[in-house]
Amino acid sequence: MKKHIVMMPGDGIGPEVTASAQQVLEAVAEEFSHRFTFEEQPIGGTAVDNHGSPLPASTTEACKAADAVFLGAVGGPKWDQNPAHLRPERGLLDIRKNLELFANLRPVKGFSSLLHASPLKEEVVQNSDFMIIRELTGGLYFGEPKERRNNGNSVVDTLAYDRHEIERIVRRGFEAARLRRGHLTSVDKANVLESSRLWREIVEEMKSEYPDVTVEHELVDAAAMKLITNPSHFDVIVTENMFGDILSDEASVITGSLGMLPSASLNEEAFGLYEPVHGSAPDIAGQGKANPIASILSTALMLRHSFGMDQEAQRIESAVSQAVEQGYHTADVNIPDGQVVNTKELTERIIDLMKADSTTTNIMNCYV
Ligand code: NAD
Repeated sequence: MKKHIVMMPGDGIGPEVTASAQQVLEAVAEEFSHRFTFEEQPIGGTAVDNHGSPLPASTTEACKAADAVFLGAVGGPKWDQNPAHLRPERGLLDIRKNLELFANLRPVKGFSSLLHASPLKEEVVQNSDFMIIRELTGGLYFGEPKERRNNGNSVVDTLAYDRHEIERIVRRGFEAARLRRGHLTSVDKANVLESSRLWREIVEEMKSEYPDVTVEHELVDAAAMKLITNPSHFDVIVTENMFGDILSDEASVITGSLGMLPSASLNEEAFGLYEPVHGSAPDIAGQGKANPIASILSTALMLRHSFGMDQEAQRIESAVSQAVEQGYHTADVNIPDGQVVNTKELTERIIDLMKADSTTTNIMNCYV
């Protein structure tokens, strides 16, 4: 299969982890006889420095013409005092908007050799394997008007959704649950908010289309508690923009490994932007210390969700799990009796394991 991928390295450790992601995609292309072409485009603080904008128009155009897009990370102290329109994060918000990426997927899965690093007890966090699907382009963060009244002493923010916006994100939830363990938790605040009552009604209407998926409704406050007391309860969580923002950050710390969490943001077709959950980590930029796993797992999401290449995605995920369980890790995580390696070495180890996996499969096939 032929695919064209735009790579946006961004700032800080972005270029280092983007290089790892591209290396892994190149190895997948070689192993599975695909043809992936890559095009680098500027975003974030480096784009402000070199092009006068955190998201040059040419970057958006290139992304629209691609089959999928990868983003490293943006931001850093150098640009912290810039005016709002020249902040690196503006580039990220604008590219999501320009590409109409309304569904944010964040899988969270613990590695058994890293459970000790979780702030939760090992027995609580073990077997956690869930995905949060957050609505990304509507709700409270996009309400109108945003205004101050009464001489600046009263404020109004609105939480607006229409049926179409809720239906398309809830459908993503059902589809994802169907590909996983078949359990969907819809999170809302239906005891207080009218928008949540419409959300709940729509979930109820749609569930007859997915008889293979079990559905539950959970209030956001109860869901926040259950995420840290019983995370293995969840399979797929689907929720509104602000609830999803808060819950996904809560979820990102329970496995104790920020450098290992991938994400995908999808539009109504299969097109998506794939990026690690972590930021640009300016404190370790350029030192070869960046953990490439979040980025590498983001490429697996790209293969699965944009290209329909599930087998290829599984090969990457399995190689990452093997590398971690064998004790290879960057300095940001601690595996007792493990071996600290740099970004490049960990990437190469994962690629070697991917290739070895294919050898094993081929040898086994000889005996079938
Ligand atoms: P951060 O995620 O960049 O870093 C938090 C801590 O985790 C740091 O100690 C960092 O060294 C470590 N860390 C993060 N990713 C790592 C990795 N892959 N390997 C090893 N260690 C890793 O968050 P922050 O410090 O709050 O923000 C730094 C900059 O990143 C800010 O400018 C912020 O605005 C930006 N940011 C960007 C994104 C994005 O591009 N999507 C997301 C969050 C923050």
